[in-house]
Amino acid sequence: MRNTKIPLELYVHIPFCVRKCQYCDFLSGPSDQKTRDDYVDALCREIRSISQKEVYEVVSIFIGGGTPSVLSGEQLCRIMDEIKQAFILSEDAEITMEANPGTVSPEQLKLCHEAGINRISFGLQSTVQQELDMLGRIHTYEEFLQSYHWARKAGFSNINVDLMFAIPGQTCENWKHNLETIAELSPEHISAYSLIIEEGTPFAQKKLILPTEDEEYQMYEDTAEILRKYGFHQYEISNYARDGFECRHNKGYWQRTEYLGAGLGAASLFQGKRFSNTRDMQTYLADSTEPEKIREDVTALSRNNEIEEFMFLGLRMTEGISERQFERNFGCRIEDIYGSVLAKYKEMDLLEHTGEFWRFTRKGIHVSNPVLADFLLDE
Ligand code: SF4
Repeated sequence: MRNTKIPLELYVHIPFCVRKCQYCDFLSGPSDQKTRDDYVDALCREIRSISQKEVYEVVSIFIGGGTPSVLSGEQLCRIMDEIKQAFILSEDAEITMEANPGTVSPEQLKLCHEAGINRISFGLQSTVQQELDMLGRIHTYEEFLQSYHWARKAGFSNINVDLMFAIPGQTCENWKHNLETIAELSPEHISAYSLIIEEGTPFAQKKLILPTEDEEYQMYEDTAEILRKYGFHQYEISNYARDGFECRHNKGYWQRTEYLGAGLGAASLFQGKRFSNTRDMQTYLADSTEPEKIREDVTALSRNNEIEEFMFLGLRMTEGISERQFERNFGCRIEDIYGSVLAKYKEMDLLEHTGEFWRFTRKGIHVSNPVLADFLLDE
C-alpha cells in the first residue's frame, strides 16, 4: 500500500553547554545535574504530549543545542525511546545529534548509535589551538580527533564537522589549513560558517581584529574550491557534502517541510503556523505537558508569508528553487509575483535561470541578504 503519511521533521533542543563560547547567542548555558535531570523529565513529558501518529511520519530528527552530548547516554536513549513511542519514524529516518569534542565517551556514543541515532555533528570550528582559545571553545583539536574516532568505532558512518572562518586574526592560509586537515579526515559532511558578531556576546564587547571583507570573500571562495578537490559538493550557502550525504533535516527546513520543535525555545512550523516554545526554564519545567501553555509567538502564515519563505529558504540551496514547484504550491507563475525582481537580478548577474530552476550565481551568493530582502511582499 502506498504510504500516504505527511513527512514531519522533529527538532529536540538541549539547552546545556559546559560553558559559553565567546561568540555564542544560542539558547544554552552551564547546568547542574539536577537541572539536566529535571529537564529530561520535562522534555519527555512534552514529547508525549505532542505525539502525532495518525497523519504524520517522522523523516528526520535533529537533537541540537546547546550541547546534547552533555547528557548521559542513558538520558539520550530515554529521549529516543519517548520519540519512538510518540511518533511513527520512517525506516530510513536521518537522526542527528550535535556533539562537542570533550563531552563524549565511547560508551555514550555506542548507546546513542544503538538507540537509532545515525548521524553525529561535531562542533569543532578550528583545528588550531590559538583559534579554539580565542573562540572560547572547551576542547583541543586532539580531543576532537579522539571523539571522531570513537564515533566511527561506535558505528557512525555519517559525520558532520562544523568549521568557522573569518575568526579574529585568521589568515586565508590558516583557513585553508583548517579545511584541508578536516577534508583529509574524510567526514561525510562539512558545514563552514563565517563568524558573525552577535549583540550581547562577549565578542561584541571586544575590539577584535577581523579579516577584511576581501579576505573573507577569498576564504569563502577557497572553501568551495578546496572541498571540491576532496569530493565534497556545495549544496547550500554554508554546507558541503559527499554525494548522498546532504543533511536531509536541513534540506527539509529549506524546503519548508513541516517540523515540530520540542524543548526550551524550540521553534516549529506546523499546520500553517510558526511558533516557539518558551525560553523560560521554570515555565518550561512546570508546563511542558501542555503545549498551548508553553508556545509563544504563534503566527498563522498568510499566503504571502509562505511565498516569501519559499523564496528565502529555497534560494539558500545551490540547486535553487523550482518554478514548477512554485506553481504547484501557489497556483500561479513565479513571474506573476516576482517577474521584475527576478529580471533585475538576472540582468545584474546575481541570479541565473536554468531549466525550471532559479538560483544565485557565485557572485550573487556574496550579496544574498540584500537580494533576498527584495523578495518581501506587501501584505
Ligand atoms: S558549544 Fe555551541 S551552543 Fe554551546 S556555547 Fe559554544 S557555540 Fe554556543
